[in-house]
Amino acid sequence: MARASVLLIYTGGTIGMKTDLRTGVLTPFDFNGIYDEFPSLKQLEVDIEVLPFVPIDSSNATLSLCVRLAEIIRDAYDRFDGFVVLHGTDTMSYTSSALSFMLMNLNKPVVFTGSQIPIGVLRTDGRENLITAIEIAAAKHATGEAMVPEVCLYFQNRLFRANRTKKLSAEELNAFVSYNYPPLAEVGVNIHYRLDSIRRWGEGPFGIDTRLGCEVMIVKIFPGLTECVFRSMLAAKGLQGVVLETYGSGNAPTYPWFLETLKETIDRGVCVMNVTQCANGMVDMEMYETGLRLQEIGVVSGRDITTEASVMKMMWLLGQNLDPACFVKLLQHSLRGEISE
Ligand code: ASP
Repeated sequence: MARASVLLIYTGGTIGMKTDLRTGVLTPFDFNGIYDEFPSLKQLEVDIEVLPFVPIDSSNATLSLCVRLAEIIRDAYDRFDGFVVLHGTDTMSYTSSALSFMLMNLNKPVVFTGSQIPIGVLRTDGRENLITAIEIAAAKHATGEAMVPEVCLYFQNRLFRANRTKKLSAEELNAFVSYNYPPLAEVGVNIHYRLDSIRRWGEGPFGIDTRLGCEVMIVKIFPGLTECVFRSMLAAKGLQGVVLETYGSGNAPTYPWFLETLKETIDRGVCVMNVTQCANGMVDMEMYETGLRLQEIGVVSGRDITTEASVMKMMWLLGQNLDPACFVKLLQHSLRGEISE
């Protein structure tokens, strides 16, 4: 089989730093010199082309970063077998979720990764994350088809469907979880791909759709939330969608002012989606009265979707200019495996 080729897109984050041996200060790592820094990469038999951005801390990530990444992948699609995106860990689940919706009929791997310790620090986790992400992006079946034709996130020996992930730890190297969907691959001595969990989303020609509706917010409820604060949040001008982070299996207060405020918001044409604050498990609005009341006023169930994927999905669907019934239907329907049906 011909040598595989991978485009390595470096956007910033901790992974891109190294210690200046003279001063002891962290400075940006030049990924153009990747083979000099990691000669062992040559053993992979993969041609790597590097596309460096002016690096950003991913706390500064915006939707234009997502659009730019989608356009880069579109423009380079035919020249590469796979793509690796190096990204800060803080918002990696958001950016990668957005990409999963923007890339249509993907049949090549797009693997996001990063690290908790800079790549140029001796004890780094970035070296293994980077090398294995490249290997996964280049992996093919004997037929020549990509092993993982999905937007995925590789971190600490596990490959996840990106739109199922959350950053759970600011400290542990094992920083990401996907509680509601199994890993797409597990890495030990060998890489074990779980072929029964990997999917290709769409059969048509590859393309991108980067239209977004951005007037969306996440509202996390908590005991003590006041009517005044809640009303003023939902009164935001131009608001199109709300991801409501509720308790447990989708429960929220039944105070009249709370339900009235939500109902008025929904009647104004704003979509409200119920997502659980729990990292694991799903919304079931028919389990308790506190959930049922939300369903009665038109709150849409997010079932087991993550907050990160739900906000990106909502923005992407808002960009599609759908009629309200179709919008709500697609919100609850799996587009890229982000929600269990
Ligand atoms: N603040 C950094 C970022 O998200 C953290 C990291 O990369 O791990 O860009």
